[in-house]
Amino acid sequence: MPLDDALARLLAHINPLTGTESVATFDADGRVLARDIVSDLQVPAFDNSAMDGYAVRSADVAAPGSVLRVTQRIAAGHTGQALQAGEAARIFTGAPVPPGADAVVMQEEAEVLAAPADGVPQVRLSSAVRAGQWVRRSGEDVTRGTTVLAAGLRLGPAELGLAASLGLSHLPVAPRPRVALFSTGDELVMPGDVPPEALPPGAIYNSNRFFLKALLHRMGCEVSDLGIVPDQRDATVAALKTAADHHDLILTSGGVSVGEEDHVKPAVQALGQLDLWQISMKPGKPLAYGHVRRSTQPGLAHFVGLPGNPVSSYITFLLMVRPLLLQLQGASRLMVPSLQLPAHFDWPKGDKRREFLRVRRNDQGGLDLFPNQSSGVLTSVAWGDGVVDNPAGQTIAHGDVVRFLPFAEWLS
Ligand code: AMP
Ligand code: MG
Repeated sequence: MPLDDALARLLAHINPLTGTESVATFDADGRVLARDIVSDLQVPAFDNSAMDGYAVRSADVAAPGSVLRVTQRIAAGHTGQALQAGEAARIFTGAPVPPGADAVVMQEEAEVLAAPADGVPQVRLSSAVRAGQWVRRSGEDVTRGTTVLAAGLRLGPAELGLAASLGLSHLPVAPRPRVALFSTGDELVMPGDVPPEALPPGAIYNSNRFFLKALLHRMGCEVSDLGIVPDQRDATVAALKTAADHHDLILTSGGVSVGEEDHVKPAVQALGQLDLWQISMKPGKPLAYGHVRRSTQPGLAHFVGLPGNPVSSYITFLLMVRPLLLQLQGASRLMVPSLQLPAHFDWPKGDKRREFLRVRRNDQGGLDLFPNQSSGVLTSVAWGDGVVDNPAGQTIAHGDVVRFLPFAEWLS
């Protein structure tokens, strides 16, 4: 099955989670906005100075060298009085421009003259003034009534700041997907449980559990780590049953090939439904999608079984599970933008499957290839900063422009 078809099929099953949470704007980083945010106010709320200097009436300063009387001083957070003809107000950045003034002269272009007999200081302005100069207009950032942040947007630091500038201490966001994570495989051992020198023959450390948990957290999920499930039908069924009740998604790795030791498929089928897809991608290929019926509550938990090979698991998560989790949260943007960059390597044999080659950007603006592209070599992912999305059967010659997908976009 082509990857795009598999993704479309997967997403066709995923309805956004119901309900909306109100979370403190401080805590909303990474969450998906559940409703449009329409501004009740103008930002800035008032015309204010963009500089430390003098607020003036531009008509008074038509020519360089004009001299004005400085009749008031306005600091940020304070307001001034109406400005009369021939007057200037000493003003500071962010302070409201007083009524009557329509421009600000920066202090570097003003010379304070010795105070005359009446004690009111005077300034000489060295250049002519344009109406509106160095004034930040009310509403130039946000106009009242506009949609500032749209439902479905994933909030990041800039969006949180913008929401705060509208006075919003809380934001309506989609619930976090609750994900039950477990690994399958009798060969798996947890770091910390067994020191490297005592690792039994045939055993390996469980690496998938670590990156999958971290990836899930980055996608805004609440993760229940259910540990390692042995390669036994009954144990797998029991783990799935527990997981279904309180979770929106059950995510497993390993055991989804069609070998005799792959127990995930029959176990899910016993409790719900499962399709095993052979996706035309490399690394990757086997992916299980289905659902598990809840025993104590109505409804279903989605099920995704990732391949066991670490690189396959990682890449399949990014390409399939990430969009699924975003759609659960009602996100409007499921895909990451790609870049067109020159390959600084040769790839003389295209594969019959679409390939995701681990590469790294170099200082010359091109892409270097990690030498070992095996699906078990996790170093390729740690070394790389993205993948080349190479169509099936495509060869690459040094200098060819290829489609680069940066990991940073996927992980944000
Ligand atoms: P499987 O899909 O269960 O046949 O596993 C495929 C390969 O991935 C085997 O070499 C497994 O040992 C390896 N593998 C499976 N799960 C993990 C895991 N959690 N961490 C590291 N390697 C794994
Ligand atoms: Mg296995």
